[in-house]
Amino acid sequence: MIIAIDGPAGSGKSTIAGELARRFGFTKLDTGAMYRAVALSALDRGFDLDDEDAITGLARAIRIAFPPRDGKPGPICVDDVDVSRQIREPRVDTCVSKVSAYPGVREAMLAPQRAVADHHDVVAEGRDIGTVVFPHADIKVFLTADPAERARRRVIQRHEHDDIDIADLADEIAETLAQIERRDALDAGRAVAPLVAAPDAVRIDSTAHTIDEVVDQIARLVAERR
Ligand code: C5P
Repeated sequence: MIIAIDGPAGSGKSTIAGELARRFGFTKLDTGAMYRAVALSALDRGFDLDDEDAITGLARAIRIAFPPRDGKPGPICVDDVDVSRQIREPRVDTCVSKVSAYPGVREAMLAPQRAVADHHDVVAEGRDIGTVVFPHADIKVFLTADPAERARRRVIQRHEHDDIDIADLADEIAETLAQIERRDALDAGRAVAPLVAAPDAVRIDSTAHTIDEVVDQIARLVAERR
């Protein structure tokens, strides 16, 4: 069984996919992490991000994998080095949409993404899962939320272990909102595999809902189709 979850930045896809994977014993596939790994590798090796051929060659040459831990896909590795922390750095947020728009980069990610579903039930999340990667997915969800709410959640999550007043985070929330909107515009506007809902996707707006409510709603869909 394949569950495809697409949607814009910060809509809660990763958390929700993780919870569904846990509940149903599925393998979670974070495709955004793979594009982030390409962007990170390009930055670390000093590539010119405007050089499409070079970046495409790099995407083909590096080995991106989630080596298993305890029978489940572990942290993302590039050529056997764990990069799960570095791919979340702001410098990667800033340039990942440029790199992911290159058709050759997307092509290079496709086979490894599909291979995950060869031997496992999968809950995959990204931007083009229901449209390109798994067009025959059993369940497709397009998850959205109001951009201001997405920015607020992102920043709160970033500071969940800090003793800090939300009122002091206004500037960071505004900055994050601008960044999210910029990334969504690039992802939705690109020529190949843009961020768009598949015609047969169930649209869920999580603005006024908790993670648990959204997970429950998708879990009902899974139960119906199992
Ligand atoms: O999901 P996340 O925010 O980590 O994705 C990072 C970036 O990777 C997105 O902004 C987008 O440019 C790219 N991406 C993509 N296709 C996917 C998943 C992510 O182009 N299926």
